[in-house]
Amino acid sequence: MDKWLVIGGGIHGTCSAIALREEGVAAADITIIDPHHHLLARWQQYTQRTGMSYLRSPGVHHLHPDPLHLHRFALQRPQPEGAHHQDFMLPHYRPSLELFRAHCEALIHEYQLDQRLLSARAEGLSRPSLPQFTVETSLGPLHARYLILAMGAGEQPHWPDWAKPFKRKDSPLQHLYDPNPLPTLQEKHLVVVGGGLSAIQFAITASKQSSSPVMLLMRHSLRIHAFDSDPGWLGPKKLNNFRQIRDFSLRRRLIDKARHRGSVPLDIARQLWRALREERIQLIHDQITGATLNRNQSLRLYLNKRADPLITDRVVLATGFGRQRPGGKWLEKAIAELGLPVHTDNYPLVDSHLRWTEGIFVTGPLAELELGPAARNIAGARMAAARIRAASRV
Ligand SMILES: Cc1cc2nc3c(=O)[nH]c(=O)nc-3n(C[C@H](O)[C@H](O)[C@H](O)COP(=O)(O)OP(=O)(O)OC[C@H]3O[C@@H](n4cnc5c(N)ncnc54)[C@H](O)[C@@H]3O)c2cc1C
Repeated sequence: MDKWLVIGGGIHGTCSAIALREEGVAAADITIIDPHHHLLARWQQYTQRTGMSYLRSPGVHHLHPDPLHLHRFALQRPQPEGAHHQDFMLPHYRPSLELFRAHCEALIHEYQLDQRLLSARAEGLSRPSLPQFTVETSLGPLHARYLILAMGAGEQPHWPDWAKPFKRKDSPLQHLYDPNPLPTLQEKHLVVVGGGLSAIQFAITASKQSSSPVMLLMRHSLRIHAFDSDPGWLGPKKLNNFRQIRDFSLRRRLIDKARHRGSVPLDIARQLWRALREERIQLIHDQITGATLNRNQSLRLYLNKRADPLITDRVVLATGFGRQRPGGKWLEKAIAELGLPVHTDNYPLVDSHLRWTEGIFVTGPLAELELGPAARNIAGARMAAARIRAASRV
């Protein structure tokens, strides 16, 4: 029997596993299950797809409990050959993606977590006999005394209603965060749909490869914010009041209000303005109301403010992730069978240690109603890992 079973090997699951290792839990007492063949697979895939060079978050947000660990790592490592980027971007010391990845890999190796990954998917959860849990997986049942649910939202790309009929293989319309590879973009008349960081970053990257201008279609005007939410949400300044609130619908409204959805930091806005000046990107502020497929496989997009449709041969949706609680049906069943408390939006109600019930901890979106607007980010992964680590002592 494993002592700790982490479900989901993304940023959040890996960060919690590192915190447990720092706390003295043996590698052999931790198993991480994730359908991919290496930890952080989804993070690597998504960040690579957007073409981003720097993280949005500052250099103190990473997977090690010591906030300065990444800075020390950067100082001590030999400079990678042919490095094109500075390690950090001022003024917030945002790490380069290359540095962040190298740091993650070093930590995974140091804490022997690569050896603790089981490439499987959780499909059921029960507690036939106290105190351990049984997790049904694609490789058979696993038993553990403690669980960390870290499934994240990465498997839930958001498809607007008008786009759903095109959700199939070989479609000219794809989501940026589809598991399937994106086709090459050079010769296509590409429309990117979305107004946030992923959309703008991806449009900039694609515009450098494409022979014709990329169209960027966004509903709202450009929103500029340094971070996903105000840094006050990472400490007592805002979180103390948040935790006093017993009305979880109000907590949800505060989270929605505090997250700067669909926003970009200034350096990315500047890159967009340059691409607009150079006519590599054409920006349209409008909303798609419907789409049809022509015989030649091109798409007609019908817009709110334009009489004539937009005709294009490739659409990439960068419309973020769905709001539904991660975990889907198997977790739904476990919630009913184990009597796990949830809010009306189906998200967990947990204690201050992020304990859903004795022995089950949550992180990422699942911890949002306790950790607030930063729960999904790397900062949230750190906050969750610290609390789970503290709970593991008692
Ligand atoms: C392009 C991009 C850039 C970002 N940049 C930043 C940034 O700079 N700073 C920041 O703070 N945040 C950033 N974020 C936000 C956030 O930090 C990331 O989305 C992060 O990867 C979320 O990690 P996660 O572990 O919650 O989820 P995921 O990455 O989705 O990982 C969850 C894992 O769980 C697995 N899983 C799901 N269901 C099961 C199951 N039933 N059984 C087993 N495994 C399962 C999934 O396959 C996946 O591998 C960024 C997000 C994106 C998309």
